[in-house]
Amino acid sequence: MAAAEVSSARGRQFEAAVEKLRAGVQAMTAWVGGAEAEGLGEALIQIREAGIDPLEAVFASGVRRFDKSGEYKADGALSLTAWLRWKCKLSGGAAMERVEIARQLEKLPQTQAAFASGDVGYQHVAVLARAAEHVGATAVRKEEGALLQAAQTMDPSQFTTVAKNFEHRVDAAGALAEANHAYQRRYFHISEPVDGLVRLDGMLDAEGGATLRTALQPFMHPVKDDDRSYGQRCAEALVELGRHGGSGSKRDGAGPRPQLIIRASLDTLAGIKGAPAGELEGGGTVPAETVQRYACDSAISRITGQGELEHELNHAARTLPASTRRALEARDRHCVFPGCTRPLNWCDGHHMVWWTRGGETTLPNLALLCRPHHRMVHEEGWVLERTKDANWKAKPPFHRISANARSA
Ligand SMILES: [Zn+2]
Ligand SMILES: [Zn+2]
Repeated sequence: MAAAEVSSARGRQFEAAVEKLRAGVQAMTAWVGGAEAEGLGEALIQIREAGIDPLEAVFASGVRRFDKSGEYKADGALSLTAWLRWKCKLSGGAAMERVEIARQLEKLPQTQAAFASGDVGYQHVAVLARAAEHVGATAVRKEEGALLQAAQTMDPSQFTTVAKNFEHRVDAAGALAEANHAYQRRYFHISEPVDGLVRLDGMLDAEGGATLRTALQPFMHPVKDDDRSYGQRCAEALVELGRHGGSGSKRDGAGPRPQLIIRASLDTLAGIKGAPAGELEGGGTVPAETVQRYACDSAISRITGQGELEHELNHAARTLPASTRRALEARDRHCVFPGCTRPLNWCDGHHMVWWTRGGETTLPNLALLCRPHHRMVHEEGWVLERTKDANWKAKPPFHRISANARSA
């Protein structure tokens, strides 16, 4: 057979293979589209076991040969990783991981077979490839069977722990060096506020990460009818941790907490139209509603401005005397917002008639509100009411707008 005929025969084979691949995807698309809910779980498993993972194994072997041939240079790419980013639409990290897997798999035949048959998933293979990169494929090969067995019964993060233990056994010095290197890369950055948002960005070593995760845990519990996303709960937990400032074990909400210092004018406190925003001492501004919320509980903020605002306002002190706080806690026991049970140390003392509007700091005018609900009342316009039978009612913002319209 002439060379041209061979290459055109190979070309037809390739086209037929692509055709079959697409047909398989189409068949699965049609099936999932019409599937009953109970069949979907098995479909998702098979999509990975019979489709995505074995295809990733094929992709890896293709990448390995493409790597050796250097053919990617023909397209003008400077490296295989660059080519994968460009032509296969992968991020830099995803491309690098696939090149590493391709290179290591060649030396890990059992892993390659398990990958191709869908017995282990892509992420497990990535963990093994990284282990091979760290301690050498020869060392991994010696325990490959046991590692693969572990991989089949664990999710990737559990398996990472097993792999790290293995690396430590084989090369304690290397594992220490890696931990030290990771520690060196630690950083945390809090940006200046832009459009009312502060961006957080950082990396912690494993120990730091675990410490933070453990510290956040008590603040992470969802409450009844919680519609916050996981990310929103994480964010709130981090701020809550900051508020507690290491005195997390202290149950007395009026105890020493890091105080936020806000500079605000009288007009802002009074909520007069056209008043300037409140200025946070740490940088950034907050709307008048937030200043008013902070004015509710003196334990969490100190408000400064022209002269002594508290005297000028001629109000009773907004500071909750310890005895009042204790009586408030004994009466309310937790956040009083209907359905909420967040404990005392999450709660501010809220003035039902706002302190900025002349409300007194006495028990009948006070209520315990957790931070998210306190915020809903001040910034989102929810109205909290105490009913005659000493229950609490919360009305959504619409009522407030119409109530204001009536009283105006
Ligand atoms: Zn309040
Ligand atoms: Zn609450």
